[in-house]
Amino acid sequence: MSLLPLPPASRQLGLSGLTISPMAWGMWRLAEAGRSVAEAARLVHAALDSGITLLDTADIYGFNGTGGFGDAEALLGQVLAAEPGLRGQMVLATKGGIRPPLPYDQSADYLRSAIDASLDRLRTDSIDLWQIHRPDILAHPHEIAQVLDDAVASGKVRALGVSNFTQTQISALNHFLGQKLVSTQPEISPLRIDCFENGELDQAMQLGLTPMAWSPLGGGRITGVESARDKAVIAELNRVAANQDISRAVAAYSWLLAHPAGIVPIIGSQQARRIAEGALALTVQWSRTDWYSVLVAARGERLP
Ligand code: NAP
Repeated sequence: MSLLPLPPASRQLGLSGLTISPMAWGMWRLAEAGRSVAEAARLVHAALDSGITLLDTADIYGFNGTGGFGDAEALLGQVLAAEPGLRGQMVLATKGGIRPPLPYDQSADYLRSAIDASLDRLRTDSIDLWQIHRPDILAHPHEIAQVLDDAVASGKVRALGVSNFTQTQISALNHFLGQKLVSTQPEISPLRIDCFENGELDQAMQLGLTPMAWSPLGGGRITGVESARDKAVIAELNRVAANQDISRAVAAYSWLLAHPAGIVPIIGSQQARRIAEGALALTVQWSRTDWYSVLVAARGERLP
């Protein structure tokens, strides 16, 4: 049986020179349900104790449609202020460029203010990875690039990434950037497989971008089955999970980790036990046959 390689113990974040864990922990849902600073700190520790050093947030996390913009960053900032030693143990990633009630704003003035506001809320001098959250169709990539290059030159940001960008949008921004992009963050999961065949991951490999997978469990959908196609994907994941004595979630993370682009699944759980369990994915090895059987189930039709 032909086995795919196990993921490495650590990865490089694109060509940034920063070393990251092969999995990340995401804080989209951190500021939900009135979570306290102590509870948030417990989750940060759960991630670090599990060997997960790449922590992903965004200025919009916490926004509930009317308020809460910045709340997830501010909560993490309080955790960092209470325990300053933590900051050096993580590679801190955040995002900006979504501006309610507008959809998106990447004008120069707004981007500058958004980066400064994230630094204030996170109570840090520097963001390791600053990502544009979603593309602003009304912003010229040359103008965005100037702001982002300035942010790197001033030391406010160490490396740059994008999320939800098309390949052409990535190429256009990278063309104007002096400090090239190091990461891209599309949605990827066994239930969301577009980028395996649409060229996004090929472009990431070509440019040396680290692909960070958002919603690696389909936002939790992988645990609650709906369509016939989802059921087929889950049946394949369950088969591998049973053979390897792991959970379906761990099977899903490890399926992403097995891809040669070095996909970094961003664990979205806000339960310490599930964050720790997620890190088990690094020990799971896939055969080519099993890997393709999940892909075929997700495609809903055989490969040619
Ligand atoms: P996910 O892992 O696909 O879904 C996490 C959700 O599934 C949580 O609500 C979790 O609940 C639930 N869940 C149910 N069973 C689970 C199990 N066995 N193990 C783990 N979780 C289980 O990820 P996500 O939260 O949607 O997204 C992950 C991260 O991606 C976010 O935190 C954020 O950093 C990033 N993201 C980025 C974008 C973007 O546009 N760039 C968009 C969305 C997300 P519990 O908390 O109760 O475990």
